[in-house]
Amino acid sequence: MTRHLLDLSLEDLEAELASWGEPAFRAKQIAQWALRHGATTFEEMTNLPAALRARLAEAFEIATLPVIAERTADDGATTKVLLDLGPSTGTQSDAVEAVRMDYESGDEDPEAGALPDRTTVCVSTQVGCAMGCTFCATGQQGFTRNLSAAEILAQVLHFTRQRRVTNVVFMGMGEPLANYDATVAAIRWMVRPEGLDMRQRGITVSTVGLVRAIDRLGDEGFQIGLTVSLHAPDDDLRRQLIRTAGGTSIDELIEASRGYVAKRGRRVTFAYALLDHVNDSPEQARALAARIRGIQAHVNLIPYNPTAGPGLRPPSRERVRAFQRELQAHGVNATVRVERGQEIAAACGQLRTDVMKQNAAPLELSGTAFQRSEPSE
Ligand code: SF4
Repeated sequence: MTRHLLDLSLEDLEAELASWGEPAFRAKQIAQWALRHGATTFEEMTNLPAALRARLAEAFEIATLPVIAERTADDGATTKVLLDLGPSTGTQSDAVEAVRMDYESGDEDPEAGALPDRTTVCVSTQVGCAMGCTFCATGQQGFTRNLSAAEILAQVLHFTRQRRVTNVVFMGMGEPLANYDATVAAIRWMVRPEGLDMRQRGITVSTVGLVRAIDRLGDEGFQIGLTVSLHAPDDDLRRQLIRTAGGTSIDELIEASRGYVAKRGRRVTFAYALLDHVNDSPEQARALAARIRGIQAHVNLIPYNPTAGPGLRPPSRERVRAFQRELQAHGVNATVRVERGQEIAAACGQLRTDVMKQNAAPLELSGTAFQRSEPSE
């Protein structure tokens, strides 16, 4: 099977080219074409000898991910795409969502203050997800497979071919730390100068809480952001909301987050999806504050974005504000996420769910064949 170029690290590519008798600098040239210039064929790499371009085309592919569905909202500032990964088994096609969100300068960030114009891309790391959060459309689809590093990068490249991307958040379909190797390999290409050369602080990994993987990520040497999804102030409720949370307590998660802060010198964000009369009372805000006070952290409150889920509702604006005020009154820094793209089903997994319902039959295929990576956890 043809390998995808960006499933190789720069070092792997250099070694491959060395075995062909090519100098190491060719690997950097190729990487810059594929990542910075968004080349989709080796033919476009005009500063490479023709014979090398031909050999590369035999050995590798640089596939783009065909768009199955696209929706825009917020006057064009939010675009969500469903991207075709090609067939997995039989005739059924895999597909993942990616979202581009454009922000104008002047918005406030709790860490950075007033922000310049920026474009954030939200990427998926798995087809479906095994974590089983009850309020998530992806969680209701179950897990199909992990994406490779190249497939994660292809989502970012889909949008960098349109405009400069300043931020990437791993908050789409799937649990990125359950696909650890591909997630880290994709991040390496995003931040290295020969790759997308992105600011490390512009990249955020969001996890529902795999503590060993959080420890490992802290040792990678990145300066990237970490968001840990808590969603409840006590373990009983958290286990009801996140079906796989059984083996991990909130205390363990908070300890792992503390460890990340100590290693990286960056505060963590705790994500908290607010569900009407489930986890949004002032008492629950106080209980949450008591657990996380003293840790260098910030809470991002996310009013629930309704899915075709089991009767959960978003809280009223008043309840959201009251919850935020209670946290702040108890010394916890908390902001409310500005929801984007409500009308295009921007919460993760909803577009795929909608398209699958419309199609009723499996998604039709178009032929981008990537090498598959197996689930790592
Ligand atoms: S919220 Fe994230 S971790 Fe939970 S089921 Fe959805 S995709 Fe998976």
